[in-house]
Amino acid sequence: MNTTFSCVGCGKCCTDHHVPLTLSEARMWAADGGQVIVLVEAFLPNGLGLPEQQREHAERRSLVVRSGDSQAHVAITFAAYNLGRCRNLDEENLCRIYERRPLVCRIYPAEINPHIQLNPQAKDCPPESWQQGPALIVGGELVDQELIELIQRSRQADRDDISIKDAICGLLGIRVTALKGDGFAAYLPDMQAFAAVIDQVTAQPLGAEPGEWLFHVSGDDVAGQVRAAGAQVVTEPAQTYAFISLRAA
Ligand code: SF4
Ligand code: SF4
Repeated sequence: MNTTFSCVGCGKCCTDHHVPLTLSEARMWAADGGQVIVLVEAFLPNGLGLPEQQREHAERRSLVVRSGDSQAHVAITFAAYNLGRCRNLDEENLCRIYERRPLVCRIYPAEINPHIQLNPQAKDCPPESWQQGPALIVGGELVDQELIELIQRSRQADRDDISIKDAICGLLGIRVTALKGDGFAAYLPDMQAFAAVIDQVTAQPLGAEPGEWLFHVSGDDVAGQVRAAGAQVVTEPAQTYAFISLRAA
């Protein structure tokens, strides 16, 4: 099925969305006075936490780290913390930093994850935006070359940034992850410290060893599976982070 699309400027995608940022965008966000949220999830080499059909994309954007006696693939997202309207959205729903807005803002409503098919019903864009404009998808494939290139840049940044994000997290004391699919570990670092650590880590070559991570999970059953795989589970309640459970209530 073919899909047409033209943004109608409703501003909904700029409201209540934590916008994933590349490392340099996260540094810019901090310099502008914004807040970044750090979201961490990981899966285990035996496949725990990972739908098999997503393995390729998930492995590419993750870093192999240690957890207890196991390895783990950790994925770290730095995102603009947008509770309510984005700080850059003006009264007329225009972006105040349009010329230098983040990659993901340029890509929406297209998907970055190649395993997820664009579903207009799952997007914030109103029906009229899908009833006008140029072709976005023809025969199941994106046709806008500029958009394709932006998505590739975003995926590449994910791969390029992951080791350095691990080092940044280490210096900020961020070492607890959630199990992919079970939830996210979410941190709101002090932005001055965050910016200083980015500057510090980007100014020097990376150390050889990635950090060691612990898992925070939603319940004893998941904890048992993580431990059985040799990985380490936290025993203390969350203090420096929030655990966002994805488990059905
Ligand atoms: S930076 Fe601009 S485009 Fe991106 S969410 Fe904020 S207002 Fe929207
Ligand atoms: S939700 Fe869709 S239509 Fe509305 S501003 Fe965002 S991209 Fe445009």
